[in-house]
Amino acid sequence: MNNTAEALWRHAQATPGSVALRDDAGVSWTYRTLHDRVAALAASLREAGVRPGDRVLLVAPAVPEFAVAYYGIHAAGAIAVTANTMSTSHELHYIGQDAGVALVLGWNRIAPGPAETATRLDVPYWPIATGMPDLIAGSDPGRPHPTGADDTAVILYTSGTTGRPKGAQLTHGNLDSCAAMIRQAHEVTAADRCLSALPLFHVYGQACVMNTVIQAGAGLSLLPRFTPEGMLALLHRDEPTFMAGVPTMWNALLHAAAGQRPADFTGLRHAASGGASLPGEVMYAFQEHFGCAVLEGYGLTETTGAGTAHITGRPRRPGTVGAALPGCEITVRDDNDAELPNGEVGEIHISGPVVMKGYWNRPDATAEVLRDGRLRTGDLGAKDADGDLRIVGRKKELVIRGGYNVYPTEVEEVLYRHPDIVEAAVVGVPDDHYGEEVAAAIAVRDGAELTGDELRRWAKQRLSAYKVPHLIAIVDELPKGPTGKILKRAITPGLFEGRR
Ligand code: ATP
Repeated sequence: MNNTAEALWRHAQATPGSVALRDDAGVSWTYRTLHDRVAALAASLREAGVRPGDRVLLVAPAVPEFAVAYYGIHAAGAIAVTANTMSTSHELHYIGQDAGVALVLGWNRIAPGPAETATRLDVPYWPIATGMPDLIAGSDPGRPHPTGADDTAVILYTSGTTGRPKGAQLTHGNLDSCAAMIRQAHEVTAADRCLSALPLFHVYGQACVMNTVIQAGAGLSLLPRFTPEGMLALLHRDEPTFMAGVPTMWNALLHAAAGQRPADFTGLRHAASGGASLPGEVMYAFQEHFGCAVLEGYGLTETTGAGTAHITGRPRRPGTVGAALPGCEITVRDDNDAELPNGEVGEIHISGPVVMKGYWNRPDATAEVLRDGRLRTGDLGAKDADGDLRIVGRKKELVIRGGYNVYPTEVEEVLYRHPDIVEAAVVGVPDDHYGEEVAAAIAVRDGAELTGDELRRWAKQRLSAYKVPHLIAIVDELPKGPTGKILKRAITPGLFEGRR
């Protein structure tokens, strides 16, 4: 089974002229073109000695050529190790060495990391150029290598907030299940056109968006670097039926469109939001302005990005991330692994066909998170009577102030209601008296003159005293990770020094 590559072969036969991918310059790749390039690359990889199960490092932005390389690696039966394009040479070398890669494919405009990594690892380096003109069809384009559902398809390295980065191994079965679940939940068909500014090296853009679209035989417009103006331009140009992104993108789009008439995107069915908690305030304003539903989903790299989702047509409960996707099971448990009743907050566990095989060469780290087929997510949440999940934050980001639990998401929800606040992140910082103090880093609207004291007063009217951020840092912009989510670990106690 190698369903996504198989699906690509099928669509190239059945609908060769339909558009699979479109880049930001407007160049379209039909299913036929995509297939031909993928088959040629797979043949070239085989001829270069890449064997089924070998690892190939792929470093490229969200351009159609990424998809050629990705499916080409799969069609050759090899494993794609997709790395962040912002990685330093040092980071790429670590990943390449850890995964034992046999070859490096790198976007030729990313220098010098991918080439240097190949040299240091003494493996071939194949630069990827726009359009892949130098791809010469190998002698045997053939069909995709027949892989098993349990065969590893990709290795995605988590950023490794604690210790060394770990490579989550996702199998072909994981990828196929994730794409099938999202197609079903969001009713994605060959008639759909999706717009995404997510990176493709990350699970969200890769598994939940690109593979879903290709499995369905639909079209995908790619924006390699998110800007609200760029996204708005592609919304008008390609008239997508849905789009996918993270909350910071919806928020930025809204602010970019502020003061304009509500947009008229008649064909736009929904915006899929995931990766981080979506403040209710942003969701409602977005739905109103863009005239489409926002369907939230929740998942991790270790669960192929899937877990829960709001389902097309089912009423969505604000503050929740929907119910378990069909085939997934979500339970909420205490520290002894006992299941908690609905309404009680505990650690979220996920089981089902999207749960990773394990971390590459790290049985110790795998055993810590994966037991009895259940993945311990490290996230805290509660289920309601209908199975809808409410996420209250990550276990390690919970702030314990003077013995009271403060869930950052709850405080952020309130801060986002302030008309001058554009972005907000709540963290705990060490405090001699309370153990931890609640701190908020915020970015305010251009021209706003909000002070920390005013904001504290405002928050006090809406939150219990122990939840009010006592430390407030007003910054130009909050640090973001590769998908555009706010990077809380980059908000360090130093930012709040002198603000007590
Ligand atoms: P890394 O592990 O690389 O440091 P990360 O922790 O962000 O990065 P990902 O696998 O990219 O790892 O993201 C998964 C996490 O994102 C989840 O564990 C959860 O904390 C958060 N998340 C994902 N979707 C949602 C959502 N809809 N609401 C709230 N949080 C979410």
